[in-house]
Amino acid sequence: SNHKDIDAMMLAEDILQGSRISLARGITLVESNSEHHFHEAQKMLEKLLPETGRAIRIGITGVPGAGKSTFIEAFGSYLCSKGLKVAVLAVDPTSSLTGGSILGDKTRMERLARNPKAFIRPSPSGGKLGGVHRKTRETMLLCEAAGFDVILVETVGVGQSEVIVRDMVDFFMLLVLTGAGDELQGMKKGIMELADAVIINKADGANEIVAKKTRGEYNRILHFLQPATKGWETKALMCSSLKETGISEIWDMILTFERTTKDSGVFSDRRRLQMKEWIHSMIVDQLQMSFFHDTRIKSLLPKIENEVISGTRPVAAAVDELFNVYYQRD
Ligand code: GDP
Repeated sequence: SNHKDIDAMMLAEDILQGSRISLARGITLVESNSEHHFHEAQKMLEKLLPETGRAIRIGITGVPGAGKSTFIEAFGSYLCSKGLKVAVLAVDPTSSLTGGSILGDKTRMERLARNPKAFIRPSPSGGKLGGVHRKTRETMLLCEAAGFDVILVETVGVGQSEVIVRDMVDFFMLLVLTGAGDELQGMKKGIMELADAVIINKADGANEIVAKKTRGEYNRILHFLQPATKGWETKALMCSSLKETGISEIWDMILTFERTTKDSGVFSDRRRLQMKEWIHSMIVDQLQMSFFHDTRIKSLLPKIENEVISGTRPVAAAVDELFNVYYQRD
């Protein structure tokens, strides 16, 4: 195991030097579900931690077809042209459950993938030891240590994944379609309240007039919603990812956001809170795993469930018994 220790340290060194091969290997280590790899990955991270935290972390969500990958291709390429190094990560709520994937693979962003200033990593599959969000958060740290300036975290507006991504980024944006009157009606207010910007994509050609109207509708609604970030007014902007218009305005807005929230302290407050939430969510994950994998719980649970279902045990008493058994350490 001595030999392996040196490996993790050397990998960390090479990541700090900006080696992409080592970065990819480091991420593979972080994504591994093996207990041994977990400990190696943690050693590597400990070494890298002082060199993390300097990137701006941006989350992007939207329904399938909203244009997320086209947008990231345009936005990412724009940032690279400004001399910035861009890493693209994904949190795919489907991949851990079904093995399938809504977000697909890196072939979707071919132009960006070829850019030497960009790094695209497809979403990890689930597994144990804290699951997908630990892996994505740690991957983000690795990318920062490797010198990436902007981290883009993509997710589909499905289930809990927007909340998970909101909790790991500084700036969160929602990509929507034009002429979304119906969509607006059906959209969960909750998602809009997570967003620091609503981007109306596909504002090109005949769509542009509709896009302007849509922008007005979103701005009207946003005005009445709780802002996602203290001291920041969430606004709707238009862009065309295909024609690459409106892209620099989005980046300018993010820079203004960064300056404003860093001055007010909201930026660092959020990062501190996110660290705490990360710890707490990992504790919950581990407790859950530990409980449901306990052999005594596993053998007792079906019997207790039957008693509750058949109406012979109250739920709270049943759960109480399970915990008594769980805490009986021998
Ligand atoms: P995702 O599922 O959110 O990643 O969406 P995609 O990026 O795959 O885009 C879905 C479709 O919308 C594709 O056919 C894109 O070419 C198209 N699309 C994306 N952005 C734009 C845009 O700005 N203008 C137009 N006209 N089409 C776009």
